[in-house]
Amino acid sequence: MAIDESTTDTDGQIRVFGDPVLEVVAARIDNVDGKLISLAEDMFRAMYEAPGLGLAAPQIGVQRQIFVWDIDDNPQGIINPEIVESSGEWVYDEGCLSIPGMYVEMLRPRRVLVRGISLDGDEVQFEADELLARLFQHEIDHLNGVLMFDRMTPDQREAALKAYETRDLRPSAEPIHLRLS
Ligand SMILES: [Zn+2]
Repeated sequence: MAIDESTTDTDGQIRVFGDPVLEVVAARIDNVDGKLISLAEDMFRAMYEAPGLGLAAPQIGVQRQIFVWDIDDNPQGIINPEIVESSGEWVYDEGCLSIPGMYVEMLRPRRVLVRGISLDGDEVQFEADELLARLFQHEIDHLNGVLMFDRMTPDQREAALKAYETRDLRPSAEPIHLRLS
């Protein structure tokens, strides 16, 4: 599958593990224009349909630095996001729409400060902890071509790959949980 670096067009289908678009660094966004807003709308649609709490552009095949999220009925998006500070530690059972049926217990910073551009084109920053901080870190990983596989312990990775070969990981199937041992 070739990756078209120039387009913001999408069929809205969620890309899953194995698709090369999930493994490249997404391009920074220079202009918040109509095309970008229409991309954000496509992203919200795909996220709600999945359903999921957050979605990064590469997950619908667009190699651009933007992600959207909605926790507690508060839909938001951020462009060219960067983590400028992080602190603490928090273990959370993380899932990913691009790795369906699998939850991975992971240790990451508890709090982050993220800066970027809002969907209105303004500079914004968010101080987040726990779930929202986790979501930010997960989605920013997507923009850097990083998947949960890259952050698993060797034991978790072995179990995950085995599950991929042998288990039914369709969304309707019983999910598997990979604990930190
Ligand atoms: Zn994900």
